[in-house]
Amino acid sequence: MQPPASYDEIVARVVAACDAPQLTLTRHPVADLGLDLLRVDIAPQAPALAHVGLFGGVHGDEPAGFISVLEFLEQRRWADHPGIAFSVFPCLNPTGCALGTRENADGIDINRTYDRDEVPEVRVLRAMIEHDAFDAFIDAHEDPEEDGFYVYAFLEDRAWHTEVVQAVAERGPVTGKSEVDETPVEAGLISVGEDRSREEAFQEYMEDGDWPLPFYLYSLGMRSGMTTETPGQIELATRVAMQHAARERVLELLTAARSAGA
Ligand SMILES: [Zn+2]
Repeated sequence: MQPPASYDEIVARVVAACDAPQLTLTRHPVADLGLDLLRVDIAPQAPALAHVGLFGGVHGDEPAGFISVLEFLEQRRWADHPGIAFSVFPCLNPTGCALGTRENADGIDINRTYDRDEVPEVRVLRAMIEHDAFDAFIDAHEDPEEDGFYVYAFLEDRAWHTEVVQAVAERGPVTGKSEVDETPVEAGLISVGEDRSREEAFQEYMEDGDWPLPFYLYSLGMRSGMTTETPGQIELATRVAMQHAARERVLELLTAARSAGA
């Protein structure tokens, strides 16, 4: 498996994958870059139980993240979840993904700028989702330094967090470390401390500015999500399978919870 060689290749794959009546592709021009950000909306086959946002390609040197989102479309994995409406954002950092760099072509880590409109591709994305209200979102990343998976999780049911890690562990290694990215991690899980509410913790984090994407989503009222971090030191195909496993488990849990409550 090789990462896409260019943003044009990513766009071509998305366009080809959207050849189904349930899928609506919209292009959102980033005039400064001379390219479009893509959004794919997928209508549920049944009345929607939930609306889920899937994001990939924020960091261009983390290919399993955006490959897994491409495959979600190409392999029609959405069809396994007929009660869920999806909005899919396959590649948020087109120039970085083309270059294979964390930063965009201007050398900016866009995932520290979602609190403001200074970076063109971030400005466009912010406008693209400002009226959305996803019941859950998944931001697919990797940690190029690591040899084990971990996840930043703040899903609506804390019990889901360990289920996600267990599902991933069936596909590849989960980190045994007690700290990654200068943050405590326990059994592959980075979550808000037990002693504080999510709201308090997020307000504190967000006061510092330089938001990654999940903080912008949180500021829009989206309170349930996770950032998956597959380990860049192992084989790419395994990392992609781990991304699929994490997403699948959340979608299963969300469907079950909403079906029970319906
Ligand atoms: Zn990343």
